Amino acid sequence: MSVPDPQRGPSSPPQPTGESAPGPQPLLGATEIRRLANEIGVRPTKTLGQNFVIDGNTIRRIVAAARLDPSETVLEVGPGLGSLTLGLLDAAARVVAVEIDPVLAGKLPATVRAFRPHLADSLDVVLSDAMRVTELPAEPTALVANLPYNVAVPVVLHLLEHFPSLQHGLVMVQDEVADRLAAAPGSKTYGVPSVKAAWYSSMRKAGVIGMNVFWPAPKISSGLVSFTRREPPQTSASREQVFAVIDAAFAQRRKTLRAALAGWAGGAVEAERYLATAGVDPRARGEVLDIIAFTRIAEAKALS
Ligand code: SAM
Repeated sequence: MSVPDPQRGPSSPPQPTGESAPGPQPLLGATEIRRLANEIGVRPTKTLGQNFVIDGNTIRRIVAAARLDPSETVLEVGPGLGSLTLGLLDAAARVVAVEIDPVLAGKLPATVRAFRPHLADSLDVVLSDAMRVTELPAEPTALVANLPYNVAVPVVLHLLEHFPSLQHGLVMVQDEVADRLAAAPGSKTYGVPSVKAAWYSSMRKAGVIGMNVFWPAPKISSGLVSFTRREPPQTSASREQVFAVIDAAFAQRRKTLRAALAGWAGGAVEAERYLATAGVDPRARGEVLDIIAFTRIAEAKALS
């Protein structure tokens, strides 16, 4: 694995000094990203959502919006060629980077040694699928990631479930998915991702990012979503029981809850009974209910 040569000109990283480096640090631009990709023979794939950020200002914007404390351990999903990783290392105490692509995961430590020699020991790289990972080398307090778009929602939900130490975060996702994650009851984009995310956290849209800051450029805009963890609703129903009601209600989104929940409840009459116990109008649709209302419905069945 080759480390870039410090003598190679303006796109090369600064010469390692072994000392802490004060002041603004260089981030990866289009030239560095293409060079790193060439060095390891990476051709970005759609399947893994590989669109790499080639714009330092976008990285600075993401890191600023993440509001990291310098003492934090950050979980980054999909570090890719390291664009965001370098920005996160500058802002936090430690970065745990989970990457599914073995070639990218293998290259990352060398990239960090080349561009941030004084921070190389602050990085852990975990070669794993972020939708399955359940153990990390350090307890992360924040999730900051430019997520692979096709699996963004399951990744966020999986990590919030398995890593209770995650207190807040900022993720870049497809803009439409950002709207869904942050949607409030009653809005057109409100659905399963919005309600399940609300079980763990409060989510807020934090901006839109254009297509030209990526290589290769995607065909759609991206959105930033920031979140803060909160306690899940107090209930005797389990999370799985609550999520089962949510899935049933949105599987037939246009139907009234009485009809949509019939299969889940064991019949329309039972559904109506649970809805009445929960204080929810059986003629309403799932899209108007908040997470508390879904919790009350699950509880009504669990206690019956
Ligand atoms: N963070 C880099 C950046 O901003 O330039 C790359 C972001 S790119 C949108 C998504 C990254 O996630 C890729 O590096 C890809 O290989 C990785 N990835 C895709 N699916 C993954 C998964 N299930 N678990 C972990 N990483 C994944």
